[in-house]
Amino acid sequence: MTVTKTCVKCNKQFEITDLEQEIRDKVNAPLPELCPFCRTKERYNKLPMYGFRKARCVYCKKEIVTSVPETETRPIACKSCYRTHFLSEINT
Ligand SMILES: [Zn+2]
Ligand SMILES: [Zn+2]
Repeated sequence: MTVTKTCVKCNKQFEITDLEQEIRDKVNAPLPELCPFCRTKERYNKLPMYGFRKARCVYCKKEIVTSVPETETRPIACKSCYRTHFLSEINT
């Protein structure tokens, strides 16, 4: 379901797509308060390192979106593999 929000900066309405909600859910990021335009501006203004990037799950090789920086060397897993591999290790 697409969510419509009002940008806290420019008061423009913008939509948050299913995909974006899903991505944000994956990385535990809150839904944005700013429209995409203001967000892009903000991003350039402060943290140039912040942002999502594409990566490949080490287990199923699926392409995923992550906020883990490129410099991070630990393996990146998709949500379902993360659950299967990491959480099962904890439980055993
Ligand atoms: Zn805006
Ligand atoms: Zn996977």
